[in-house]
Amino acid sequence: MIHIGLDFDDTLIDTRKSIVRVLNKQLNRNIMFDEVTIYEISELYGQTFEEFKGFFISNQDELHKIEPYPFIKETISRLADKVKFTIMTGRPVEWMDSLKKWVKENNLKVESSLCASQFENGKLECAKLNDVSLFIEDHPTHALSLADGGVNVLLIDKPYNQECQHQRITRVKDWTEVGKIIDAFADKM
Ligand SMILES: [Mg+2]
Repeated sequence: MIHIGLDFDDTLIDTRKSIVRVLNKQLNRNIMFDEVTIYEISELYGQTFEEFKGFFISNQDELHKIEPYPFIKETISRLADKVKFTIMTGRPVEWMDSLKKWVKENNLKVESSLCASQFENGKLECAKLNDVSLFIEDHPTHALSLADGGVNVLLIDKPYNQECQHQRITRVKDWTEVGKIIDAFADKM
């Protein structure tokens, strides 16, 4: 059975959109999500990463009140007999409970959820130790590290990853495209 690694934030759930919504409300700002092209949203609000981490921890329930991106549930369920899916997130460990709660509430059929940031070499080490042959990711740094380490990546197209290119990285628009590629990949195995 093929093992596919899944990034969590901004691959399964539009966390950035949620963060902008909640920060705008709390700080009385009016930043338009569509105009956000930098990766570190906290910088737009003048927050340090430590402040942002605190904000995230105290607002976890509110931040996760958001559905999975379209076609994720269908794709994962449809491929269940061919593919094992495991979430491998770069989140800090303190944010894992809210991730697991969201996965459960949304009834996503994934094998388990691992905190890849706990591994010394992050997602690559986590993916290699678990025999992952394909990874779905949005973050350019993680995508490149996985690709350099020999793991194929489907990169979800985002404004902040436009420069990211590698022979093992395939750019995809959305989860319908992900589904088609995994079907073809699974048939070859
Ligand atoms: Mg991500």
